[in-house]
Amino acid sequence: MLKRLVARLKKTKNSSLSSKKAPRDRKGGPATKGNSSLPLSIIPRQEHEVSRKQLSDNALKVLYRLKKSGFDAYLVGGGIRDTLLGQKPKDFDVVTNAKPEQVKALFGNSRLIGRRFKLVHVVFGREVIEVATFRASPSETSQHHAQSAQGMLIRDNVYGNKDEDAERRDFTINALYYSINDFSIHSYFHALDDLKAKQLRMIGDPETRYREDPVRMIRAARFAAKLGFEIEPKTLAPISEMAHLIRNVSPARLYEEVLKLLISGHAVESYRALQVLDLLPTLLPATHHELQEQPQWEAFVVQALKNTDERVQVDKPVNPAYLFASLLWPPLQRQRAHFEAEGMPAMPALHQAASALLHSQQAYTAIPKRFVSVIKEIWDLQLRLVNCSPKKADKLIEHPKFRAGYDFLLMREQVGEDLGGAGTWWTDFLAASPKAQAIFEQRQKHSQYPARRPYQPNEDEHTPSPKGPRRSPKRKSHNARRKKTTHQGASKHTPQ
Ligand code: ATP
Ligand code: MG
Repeated sequence: MLKRLVARLKKTKNSSLSSKKAPRDRKGGPATKGNSSLPLSIIPRQEHEVSRKQLSDNALKVLYRLKKSGFDAYLVGGGIRDTLLGQKPKDFDVVTNAKPEQVKALFGNSRLIGRRFKLVHVVFGREVIEVATFRASPSETSQHHAQSAQGMLIRDNVYGNKDEDAERRDFTINALYYSINDFSIHSYFHALDDLKAKQLRMIGDPETRYREDPVRMIRAARFAAKLGFEIEPKTLAPISEMAHLIRNVSPARLYEEVLKLLISGHAVESYRALQVLDLLPTLLPATHHELQEQPQWEAFVVQALKNTDERVQVDKPVNPAYLFASLLWPPLQRQRAHFEAEGMPAMPALHQAASALLHSQQAYTAIPKRFVSVIKEIWDLQLRLVNCSPKKADKLIEHPKFRAGYDFLLMREQVGEDLGGAGTWWTDFLAASPKAQAIFEQRQKHSQYPARRPYQPNEDEHTPSPKGPRRSPKRKSHNARRKKTTHQGASKHTPQ
C-alpha cells in the first residue's frame, strides 16, 4: 500500500514535471461567472447508493431543521465523499443559504465561531456539525477579498450562492453536495468522475489556489494518503516549487494541519506523501534535516507513526505530545550530543537541547504549551528509565507520564537501539509490581487526554493569516463548557 502510494506519487510527479503534453480539455474549472456554465451533474436518489442510514443522524437533524425553516441545506465535502467511497467520514459538514445568525437562532446547542468568516458549530455531545453559509469565490468580488503581497487570501468573507461556493472549494472530489430536499447528489467539476478515477484534482488554476491558501498543498498530501488517490499532474506539479509559501501560514493553523495528518489513521502514508511532495521541511525542518543526515532514523519515525495508526484503528486515544516527542527525537540527539561535547552533563544537556529544539519548532507548528511540557517529560524519562535501581524504579512509576516514557523506551528498543535491556528490565519489574498494576488500572480509568483548546480553523481555514495565532474572546467560555475529549479527530476538534 505504502510503496504503491509513493510510487504513484513519484510517477505522477515525474510525468507532470517532464511532460509537455497539452492539458486535458476537461478542466477542474473555474467556469465563467453567472455560473450557468459550471460543470454540474445532478444524480437523483435512485441513481446513487448513498442512503440516509449511512449518514450522521445529527447531520440529518441539522439539514432537516434548516429545510423546515425554509432554507437550502446540503451535506458537503468529506461527509459525502467518504460515504461514496465506502469509508467512515471523519466529520459531517453542512452548507446552507441561511446566514450564521439565522443558523444560530435555529439551534440551541450551537455556537458562532470565527470573526472574519462566521460559521456555526452545532454541538451534539462529542459530535460537532459545522454549518457554513455559501461563500463566493475571490475572483468574483475582489473588493471584498484582501490578499497579501504573496497572493494569499487574508480576507474572504463574502456570502455567495451554491455554484460560487462549489468554485471556491479545494479539490473536485470535495465539491459534492447532498441535497436534503430530494436526496440527490450534486457533483461539480466532474467530482464523481474523479472519485471513480481516484484522482485528486484542484478546482481552478492550482498555482493560484495554492497561493491563495498554501495549506491546500498539505491537504493534497493528506487526501492522497488517506484515500490512496493519485494527484493529477497539474495539481501536483507546482507543489514542490510553492511549498515555501507554507511559511506564511500561521503556526497555530499548521499545528492543526500536522495533527490532522498524524491522527488520520494514515500517518505513515501521510508522512510518505509529505516526503515525496517536499513538504516535510516546511513543517518539521529539524526532523527533515536529521533524516537527510542520518537516514537510519527513518525506522524510528515510521515505527511511531505505525503505532499511532494502530491505536487509531482500535479507537484508542492518541496523545499529540507523544507524537511530537517521537518526530523530534532524532534531531534532539544531535543537539544533545553537541551540548555534551561542550562538557555539559547528560541531563542538563538534554534539557537545553529540548528547549532549543522545541523553541525553533514552535515557529513552524505552534504546539500547545501543555503538550510541550509533556514532550519534555517523555524525553526526560528516557534518561531516568535507563540504569534504574529497583528503589528508584518504585518511585518513578508514580510519575504522571511514566507510561508514555516507558512506551517510548520500548519503541526505541523495538527499532533496534541498544539500551542494555532496559525495556525488558522494566517490563519484568512492572509485571512483578502490584503497585504498578494499581497505578496503571487507576490511570486507565482516566485515560482520556485533557480537552484540547483548539485553534479555531474557520478563522484561517480559507483565509490564512499572515500573523501568528489569535484567540477568540469566546473561546474561553466555550472551552470551559467542553467535555473532555481525546485526540482522534483534529478537524472540528471532536473525535468521532
Ligand atoms: P476530512 O473531514 O476528512 O478532513 P473534508 O473534505 O471534509 O475532509 P474539511 O477540512 O472537513 O475536509 O473541510 C470541509 C470542506 O471544506 C472540504 O471538503 C472542502 O470542500 C472545503 N475546504 C476545507 N478546507 C479548504 C481550503 N483550505 N480551501 C478550499 N476549500 C476547503
Ligand atoms: Mg470534513
